Amino acid sequence: MFHHDRTWCVTSVASAEELAQKLTSIVWTCCTAFELGGYLWLNDSTSPDGAAEFAVLKRLTQDGPMLQVESITFGWCDYDTSLAYIQQALRGEFDGSKFAHEVHPRLQTPQEHGRCHHCA
Ligand SMILES: [Zn+2]
Repeated sequence: MFHHDRTWCVTSVASAEELAQKLTSIVWTCCTAFELGGYLWLNDSTSPDGAAEFAVLKRLTQDGPMLQVESITFGWCDYDTSLAYIQQALRGEFDGSKFAHEVHPRLQTPQEHGRCHHCA
């Protein structure tokens, strides 16, 4: 499931450890996305009350289409499991998966995003 009508607010994280920490310790609004190492992690959860599901996207060009390579339910993962998934993604291990397909998400910087109905 991928939310085509959603606009995500992208913030950068510095390391796989930081991302794993964020994904397993906080319930994020549905417009949250993280960027690390040429990959984006988009909150694809149905609602903030459900299990946190993040789509993993690989940037093909700076502004063009992206490749969704995985979808991971971090809501069911502990820190170590999440970190392992993140490191696998960063090594490109999901890039060739059968699941991989091109997507065109609407992304914004925090400045552009401001507040939407997901994070108001
Ligand atoms: Zn928002």
